[in-house]
Amino acid sequence: MSDDTPLYFEVAVAAPIHQPLSYAPPPGVKRLAPGHRLLVPLGRRQVTGYLLACHTEPPAFNALRAALAVLDDEPLFPAAMVPFFRWIADYYHHPIGEVIQHALPAGLSRRSTRIIKLTDRGAEELPSLAQSPGSKRRAPSPPPDWLPELLTRGELSAAKSATVIRRRPPELKRWQEEGLIEIDNRLRRESVRAKTETIIIPQNQQSVPLKPSEQKTLELLRELAGGNSGGPGASGEPAVPGDPGDPSASNGHNTPSGVPRRELLKRYPGAGRALKELLTRNLISTFEQRLYRDPFGDAPPFFPRPEQLTAEQSTVMARLTPAIDRREYAPFLLHGITGSGKTEIYLRAAEATLAQGRQVLVLVPEIALATQLEGHFCSRFGNAVALLHSGLSGGQRFDQWSLLLGGEAKIAIGARSAIFAPLPAPGLIIVDEEHDPAYKQEEGLRYNARDLALLRGLQQQATVILGSATPAVSSYHAARQGKFELLEMTRRVEDRPLPTVEIVDLKEVKTVSGLPPLFSPQLVRALKENLVAGHQSLVFLNRRGFANLVLCKDCGRPVQCRHCQVSLTYHKKADALLCHHCGYRQPRASLCPHCRSGTLVPAGFGTERLEEELRRHFPAARLARLDQDTSRDRKEFFKVLKAVRDQEVDILIGTQMITKGHHFPQVTLVGIVWADAGLGIPDYKAAERTFQLLTQVTGRAGRGEQPGRVLVQTLQSEHYSIALAQAHDYQGLFEQEIALRRRLGFPPWGRLINLRFDGEKEEKVQELAQKLGEFARQAADPATRVLGPAPAPLSRLKDRFRWQLLLKGQGVAPLHRLCQALLGEYTRLAGSSTVKLSLDVDPENML
Ligand code: ADP
Ligand code: ZN
Ligand code: ZN
Repeated sequence: MSDDTPLYFEVAVAAPIHQPLSYAPPPGVKRLAPGHRLLVPLGRRQVTGYLLACHTEPPAFNALRAALAVLDDEPLFPAAMVPFFRWIADYYHHPIGEVIQHALPAGLSRRSTRIIKLTDRGAEELPSLAQSPGSKRRAPSPPPDWLPELLTRGELSAAKSATVIRRRPPELKRWQEEGLIEIDNRLRRESVRAKTETIIIPQNQQSVPLKPSEQKTLELLRELAGGNSGGPGASGEPAVPGDPGDPSASNGHNTPSGVPRRELLKRYPGAGRALKELLTRNLISTFEQRLYRDPFGDAPPFFPRPEQLTAEQSTVMARLTPAIDRREYAPFLLHGITGSGKTEIYLRAAEATLAQGRQVLVLVPEIALATQLEGHFCSRFGNAVALLHSGLSGGQRFDQWSLLLGGEAKIAIGARSAIFAPLPAPGLIIVDEEHDPAYKQEEGLRYNARDLALLRGLQQQATVILGSATPAVSSYHAARQGKFELLEMTRRVEDRPLPTVEIVDLKEVKTVSGLPPLFSPQLVRALKENLVAGHQSLVFLNRRGFANLVLCKDCGRPVQCRHCQVSLTYHKKADALLCHHCGYRQPRASLCPHCRSGTLVPAGFGTERLEEELRRHFPAARLARLDQDTSRDRKEFFKVLKAVRDQEVDILIGTQMITKGHHFPQVTLVGIVWADAGLGIPDYKAAERTFQLLTQVTGRAGRGEQPGRVLVQTLQSEHYSIALAQAHDYQGLFEQEIALRRRLGFPPWGRLINLRFDGEKEEKVQELAQKLGEFARQAADPATRVLGPAPAPLSRLKDRFRWQLLLKGQGVAPLHRLCQALLGEYTRLAGSSTVKLSLDVDPENML
């Protein structure tokens, strides 16, 4: 293809348009790599677009408009991600430009900025102007004060550029027209950068005359750097500065031959000047090493690399390593009980992948878990790790993104949205706790990061490891069918026993009121014994607040949110009734909305009430509570976790926040206050979820030297998910569930797509849902079932009425064809109606 062949840009615009659009390149631009942002005309607006491809074939549509500008110097994502975005747009029926917008770090467009830059011609012609004002052509006035900076740096800073552009001096326009300067649109990097520290390495050069201070500095340096300065796991190999990819390289904890400058100055404050001198004489060398700080604000805990794998870990690695080396798509399901050492498998698999020159993507359900895994990965891989989680500021997030895109960071760890991390060639994708519902995005682009991990692995010929102690029923089924290779680890590291689980049947506990107690005598006794023994306990309840119901004493009805079809929860500290869905709040002293009575009584319970009752039972115990109310921000959250880790807490009370991934070796007792909380939810996954949750909480006990004990309080002791959790019987749960779902035709035996309608007027929502329901029944093929429409289980949320229509089928293709037709019909029918339709492909949550 010659240089003059006209090119057509295929662009995904950031607007609700399902297909990419074609544009001619902007003036002066020829070829451009996919992943660049463009400014493109759309109707009468100008919008951001993302370049997907350059084509030589002209598009069918011939009145082609030209893109207006290229917005960045560099692409924002690697070209290999284009097929990924296309697939997501198709599968989730979501506009492709919005898919990409969602994938990129937030706030990108807001932070693009204009920079005044010197052109080559300007670099030749403008200096004469600065040196001899008025001597040469057209300089009636002295040169502008910003010229020197422009000449020395080649461009002005973002702030300076902004001032100059605002003031609009005459030179700006003139020099621009003459091609001496140009204004560049550029992404602004925020000043928040990864923290670094200077590491000093002594060089082997002898016998030069030195000042005493230099001599002393050098001696101290040699002493500190010599042999035993490494932390645990020091290998004795030299640090490899600037090679973050080498897994054996320095990792911030262990730098056998280098010494942090900070350390040196602490020992000998006079070293500052001496170091400068030593550096110019090549007696030392320095490099910048990234500093990791754990979210606890401490030096990160260091986890040494175990010398020996357990027998099961070795067996698993023997199957993983060849797969990684083949560089083909290879999906694995790693089913390992809690404490079996899955993390070490992830780390070794990552080592193998890095050694091949490919990158690693690690997904974790939530920041809670990320901290544990973060520590392990940073200990092992130091500078090669980039973190993508919600605790980062926009600037930090963007920096991490750039490090990954540029290949400087080779391991990305993050929650669900990290599936979009811009790794150029991922060779390994890990999804830890793959069953976790947090992998499903429940708003906007409703994707499942676990499913996308498999897709990305397929497209990039990568190994994918889905890991869990309680795999999703659908994942285990896929493994049984040979779609994933099953890896099992059935024993805890060092053969620590699994905790014993005792069931306390609340129906049999006698109380004066006849109502089941919050704490059975068994649980109180167990907590007391554990306190006396000086061990830690966890008390778990998946419900926050003080009382989850507020009843009217006169008419007996519950007080509901004014905006949602849900009961309000009483929060004692806030002394208010709160809606957990929309945040609506009303004072406790309000009237019954039904009968205007003034006596409202709290009923039911939540974690806040547990804490109060426990204080009564154990006035001397040190209690802490972890739920959304007590840990509004990440800092608070880590403060509590740190206190538990440092054994300043005897009993930790909390919601599922305390169940995930934490490794507290001193916790020997777990009390589950009410195991049935999730069983009443109208969702086909309720039993599976309950089993998973109970197993996770149970897994927090007995992770150290002492064996663990778990007490489960329940009103449904006969329910299989509770009985099977007691027996640590995952297989049993799987058999039950898979048979049940086969009878009902639910996943994995069938596929689901949920269409949700919502609007402010109930009649309108209902009418549209019913029309589309009829249409669906007519259009569906015989194998597809149309269920509903019916009001959604949460039929009113945030002042919007909600209906849903569930499509259930065997294969994906007919379901998607039907969806396509329905979307067309919706566009035709809805017109200017305000009823919104949103699609949920493979729904995780039927509420
Ligand atoms: P899981 O994620 O499967 O619940 P972890 O990965 O947290 O389990 O491992 C449990 C504990 O065992 C951790 O403290 C971990 O450091 C330790 N461990 C893992 N593998 C080994 C090994 N091969 N030798 C010694 N300790 C190990
Ligand atoms: Zn009332
Ligand atoms: Zn509400």
